[in-house]
Amino acid sequence: MKSLVIAIDGPASSGKSTTAKLIAEKLGLMYLDTGAMYRAIALKIYQSGTELTDKASLTKLLNSTTVTQKNQNGEVHFLLDGIDVTEAIRTPEISLWVGPVSEHALVREYLVNWQREIGKAGGIVADGRDIGTVVFPSADLKVYLIADSHIRAVRRQKELAARGIVQKVEEVEEAIVKRDHRDSNREHSPLRMASDAIEIDTTHLTVGDQVERVLALVKKLQTQESK
Ligand code: C5P
Repeated sequence: MKSLVIAIDGPASSGKSTTAKLIAEKLGLMYLDTGAMYRAIALKIYQSGTELTDKASLTKLLNSTTVTQKNQNGEVHFLLDGIDVTEAIRTPEISLWVGPVSEHALVREYLVNWQREIGKAGGIVADGRDIGTVVFPSADLKVYLIADSHIRAVRRQKELAARGIVQKVEEVEEAIVKRDHRDSNREHSPLRMASDAIEIDTTHLTVGDQVERVLALVKKLQTQESK
């Protein structure tokens, strides 16, 4: 179990992080939220006023940045250079800024290397857009979560509301659809389902159902391996 690598990809708000976190907890594996890494880098780039076209400054910024995850009272917190940015990276502004940042080849190369380093010993559940296609192409299990965009917007709106951010569901849906389009059509590591991934449509599933489906796939995998 310790060396198992599970990749969970899919469009925005399809349930990846919630599912990945719970699967990791249930199986005693490490959880890696790669979206949070891109978001934290986006926050730093914009706070520092670094131009994405200025390769030298961008390289310097990346080389002097650390993004870490820690568990605190059962919640995952993200630290950017030691400062807790868990809330700051989840704003609608960062959701907009992260698009151009995550398209940048330098940013992707830097983060993908880092993600591979974190996952090299296995025992990890990682979620993102390119985990099964680029980061861990030989993952033991690849899951691709999808859901109707309206349902995804409703879920995201609830998450935002719980943090005091009020947005109309139509606005949230428009932003989600735009982000997916951008993520799917970028040059480097576009959002794609890996050919050996298993698709799960979470539109009508509860979080519990999603977790059960993935756990069933892990069980199946282990039964096949023990034969
Ligand atoms: O998962 P989350 O919605 O937090 O990801 C934010 C953004 O980070 C995505 O819309 C995408 O642009 C970028 N991302 C990426 N590759 C990943 C994870 C996230 O390009 N593996």
